[in-house]
Amino acid sequence: MALIDTGVQAPTRRELLHAIGVMGGASLLYQAMESMGHAAESQFKGPPNLQGARPGASVLVLGAGLAGMLAAIELRKAGYKVEILEYNNRPGGRNWSLYGGDTYTELGGAVQQVGFAKGNYLNPGAWRIPYHHRTILHYCKAFGVALEPFMQLNHQALVHNSKAFGGKPQRYRELAADWDGNVAELLAKAIDNKGLDSELRAEDRDRLKEALRDWGLLDKNMRYSKGLRSSRRRGYDRPLGGGVDAEPIASTPFAFGDLLDARIGGIVAQHMENQHQTTMFQPVGGMGMIGKAFGKQVEGLIRYGAKVTKIDQSGGAVTATYTDIASGETRTAKADYCVCTIPLGILSQIEVDASPGLLAAIAAVPYSNSVKVGLEMKTRFWEDDEAIYGGISYTDQPIAQISYPSGGLHSAGPGVILGAYTFGPASYKFAGMAPEERVRTALEMGAVFHPGRYKEQFSNGVAVAWSRVPFTLGCCAQWNEATRKEHYQTLCAVDDRIVLAGEHASYVGCWMEGALLSSLDAITRLHTRALEA
Ligand SMILES: Cc1cc2nc3c(=O)[nH]c(=O)nc-3n(C[C@H](O)[C@H](O)[C@H](O)COP(=O)(O)OP(=O)(O)OC[C@H]3O[C@@H](n4cnc5c(N)ncnc54)[C@H](O)[C@@H]3O)c2cc1C
Repeated sequence: MALIDTGVQAPTRRELLHAIGVMGGASLLYQAMESMGHAAESQFKGPPNLQGARPGASVLVLGAGLAGMLAAIELRKAGYKVEILEYNNRPGGRNWSLYGGDTYTELGGAVQQVGFAKGNYLNPGAWRIPYHHRTILHYCKAFGVALEPFMQLNHQALVHNSKAFGGKPQRYRELAADWDGNVAELLAKAIDNKGLDSELRAEDRDRLKEALRDWGLLDKNMRYSKGLRSSRRRGYDRPLGGGVDAEPIASTPFAFGDLLDARIGGIVAQHMENQHQTTMFQPVGGMGMIGKAFGKQVEGLIRYGAKVTKIDQSGGAVTATYTDIASGETRTAKADYCVCTIPLGILSQIEVDASPGLLAAIAAVPYSNSVKVGLEMKTRFWEDDEAIYGGISYTDQPIAQISYPSGGLHSAGPGVILGAYTFGPASYKFAGMAPEERVRTALEMGAVFHPGRYKEQFSNGVAVAWSRVPFTLGCCAQWNEATRKEHYQTLCAVDDRIVLAGEHASYVGCWMEGALLSSLDAITRLHTRALEA
């Protein structure tokens, strides 16, 4: 950013934002707006105050995920008669925890019996909540869901890259400290070499150097060097003690080239993302607690084991045809209006009576895939041996990361490690394996972090491949700029008597917050439409 005084009048904020938008597209503009405090992280303004539904008016909600259940809760408050049809035998959808004793059958027929000890769980889908997701936090409080901190960043966790440090994992703390130190030193050198003279006024150059010295823990020569100063952040070879051997011994920073090999810059940047900043939360006892709490609010309204196969909106009403899974019978449910929260990958395979525009929008959005593997370990050796309490260790192997439980810290084992959270092509490779093979592979790959302990302490595991999850057939909606432009508004618009809601109908994609915001917006517009009819 240019801090030099050019004598030209400074642009207004609006002009600056426009220029950034033209240069960098919508996502850059959004980031810039966020940093200038112009875009709230969530658009939540409190629960809606919908009132005055016409006597006897009814709404059919399809799907008892968070979007569907919130729609039902708020529409019932407004006076509508509400019924929910849900494929599963539980509320929550992608808000889901697997516990010991649960059975999970994926597409293709593989059945897994979860063998976790009491209280342990895997969150196959949603697992963390940013502090600024005000809607989900609001309803967690309102419905009595106890939350605890979710550890995203743990300086003591590890980073593994097969092409760096001979494949030996290193502490995030050391790598991140050295990254900052080296970048600060390079910037200071660039200033000294007059490389930034055209960018900075003389007094700003001095002030920046002063700041770089603090940021990178540079020595008096503006070098990032071995010493007690750099060790304050990266840790000591011998830590501070008591008595005769109390004096600390400094540690040796890594070479900059090794840091680049380890690609630590990308991992540092991940932790900086607005969605990953402190404080993050998780429900005590598993993410599924949220689905359960929402489910309690709509007790009696949900018809479970109801697989919707057709949606018709002729004759002044909406009729959903569904298979009652327990009996195999085909049945129908009818209402004046419909809020449909069925994920698009499934909805696109259902016969839907809607405008060509909406049908095109439903068909236009592909879904991402991801695989999560839960590995139960007999003891919490990562805590006992290495003082790792929660957080994430990263690897360049297909498992991408392992995450240590943020709950039950410092307790006796057993504990469940998230042993894989795959993205991109690796997800399809994992999804192509039998569940036991996914678990075995995750164990093999994750052992790089804790050799000697990982496999020895393993007790049992479970693996969920989202492309094989029968009630979503994928992870989350994958919009791009072109599909947003062509289809997003049509997807969200009320189509005669039907409105779609869910994470796919939001800009907070693949977050529970997006599902809830979409739901509140959809029902508000549907209510207006119903009152105007
Ligand atoms: C791997 C992964 C990680 C994630 N991580 C996070 C996270 O850390 N934090 C976060 O906030 N969010 C996260 N998310 C996203 C979050 O889970 C979703 O955005 C949110 O739960 C979606 O809610 P929804 O109501 O829109 O959809 P869903 O929860 O999918 O609800 C749709 C419902 O429709 C039902 N249904 C489907 N087909 C039919 C049918 N034919 N008939 C009747 N019912 C049907 C389904 O069973 C389901 O209950 C993650 C998701 C995944 C997959």
